[in-house]
Amino acid sequence: MGCGASTQAAQSNPSAVPTTESKEDSPRQVQPVVPPLKIQNISKAGWSKEGEDTARESIGSRTPRRGGTQQQERRNSIEMSGRSFVRPATPELEGGTPDDVLEELLNGNLRFITGETQHPHQDFRRLQQIAPKQKPIAAILACADSRVPPEIVFDQGFGDIFVCRIAGNIATAEEIASLEYAVLDLGVKLIMVVGHTSCGAVKAALSGKAFPGFIDTLVDHLDVAVTRAQSRNATSYEELVGMHAALRKQGADGHPDPKLIELVIQENVKYQIDRCKRSTIILEAMMKKKLKVVGSVYNLETGEVEML
Ligand SMILES: [Zn+2]
Repeated sequence: MGCGASTQAAQSNPSAVPTTESKEDSPRQVQPVVPPLKIQNISKAGWSKEGEDTARESIGSRTPRRGGTQQQERRNSIEMSGRSFVRPATPELEGGTPDDVLEELLNGNLRFITGETQHPHQDFRRLQQIAPKQKPIAAILACADSRVPPEIVFDQGFGDIFVCRIAGNIATAEEIASLEYAVLDLGVKLIMVVGHTSCGAVKAALSGKAFPGFIDTLVDHLDVAVTRAQSRNATSYEELVGMHAALRKQGADGHPDPKLIELVIQENVKYQIDRCKRSTIILEAMMKKKLKVVGSVYNLETGEVEML
């Protein structure tokens, strides 16, 4: 989907040196890309020793909160079972269940936040292996925010996850169509909608302001999440109206309540999941137990993916 040309090129000449130029017909001189060894050399990329220590300390001794506790419990559970969360990162889970796939993604995130990333499937060999056909294990609907790269967050590589990114991780018709393709043609066993803390799109929706260009279209999708977050907290219609007004004022002032932002981010993920489930393709796969649709929120500061 959208990658047929490059696939064909790789098939016709699998031993070709990869280049930064994707158009095979281009007459321009192309430059070889950095060899895969470079990737191996930076296996701890982004993790200084100090950073690793901080991450470990963070996991082991942080003040219990939902995300930290969740990760710690997960780690404890894995260790007690005698298994290792740092298992070889081989997401070829053809025979696996949706839960196996979810476990692999969460293990990958655990590897990431503890500085034990394996950077699986990120070399040229893997690129060649999957050039003829992709077989990702999961589809991710995530925000376009540059701080939320799913492959890094989940410690995955080429061909492992089918990623749809859009500001606010909203499930538009086009995004849902992409997910349907991933389910129907690629056979992914998991769809994860990933929100993230401090999401600019959510903040924009909270502001209630008008935005230029097509940005308003994007924000409109998030308004439902804002209303849902309010309605869950309100005990009466009057209270809801009052909350709405207060919220708009906070947003317009540029100082929305952080707790409310968090709530809307969570509600947005849940709402987008509901939208995904409007797809008969997705729903049918779920009913046949071939697919699971889950939601999570990625913490920009800790790197943790917290399940909702
Ligand atoms: Zn965002």
